[in-house]
Amino acid sequence: MFEVKAPLVAKSAKPGQFVIVRIDEKGERIPLTICDYNEELGTVTIVFQVVGASTTKMSKLNEGDSF
Ligand SMILES: Cc1cc2nc3c(=O)[nH]c(=O)nc-3n(C[C@H](O)[C@H](O)[C@H](O)COP(=O)(O)OP(=O)(O)OC[C@H]3O[C@@H](n4cnc5c(N)ncnc54)[C@H](O)[C@@H]3O)c2cc1C
Repeated sequence: MFEVKAPLVAKSAKPGQFVIVRIDEKGERIPLTICDYNEELGTVTIVFQVVGASTTKMSKLNEGDSF
């Protein structure tokens, strides 16, 4: 589970929506569901299962890293 700082997304998020994320500029675009969002903190929560290249790279990120 990641809590991600993304104020613009948190501001306009609606139930049922998902985000497209990329590990870096060359990364594949992968869809992940928005599980929760906090407009005041400007964060969105995502939960993902490690299945392939992008989710493996994401699972190795540490607190404070960006993607
Ligand atoms: C609208 C939408 C919302 C999604 N929300 C979430 C979410 O909230 N959390 C989440 O964990 N995933 C979610 N997914 C699935 C997620 O996008 C994929 O798991 C991700 O793109 C895989 O990227 P990857 O590069 O890690 O794996 P890839 O390298 O693209 O895939 C590696 C291999 O794993 C297989 N594979 C892919 N997904 C799965 C799976 N789920 N189970 C078993 N095998 C699989 C692929 O067929 C491929 O052979 C969502 C997908 C969609 C379309």
